[in-house]
Amino acid sequence: MTEDERKQSELAYAHRWEVLQEVNSERVRQDTKWGEQNHPDVNRGLTDGEGGCSVLDMAAWYGVPTPSSAREDCDIAASDGRCTWAHILVEEVAEAVEAATLEQQDDIDAGALRKELVQVAAVTVAWIEAIDRRKAVR
Ligand SMILES: [Mg+2]
Repeated sequence: MTEDERKQSELAYAHRWEVLQEVNSERVRQDTKWGEQNHPDVNRGLTDGEGGCSVLDMAAWYGVPTPSSAREDCDIAASDGRCTWAHILVEEVAEAVEAATLEQQDDIDAGALRKELVQVAAVTVAWIEAIDRRKAVR
């Protein structure tokens, strides 16, 4: 790593820390406004009903694509050079809804939902960093 690359990396890390502090401030604001929130992960009426609920039906209920459909959209857009942050974030949200549906239905915590939500948060932070880079070059 050159000295310039090292400096760029340090600046990017410092900026990411500022973004994460903004996220923390928003969480404090939310807790102040709403108090501690403890909701089900996804619609219990669907997961706990007779025969359970498919990932497809849960995705439709929330108006999000299935993970396979979101991945396909993202891959096609990427191969055409049209990939957007919204493609990537929607794919991660779709994966989180899938994991939540499967874990809630089987009444297990396999760790998949938590992992997907970390990915949602990481993509969201990456998107914010990209917006801030655009502002910096203007
Ligand atoms: Mg994911």
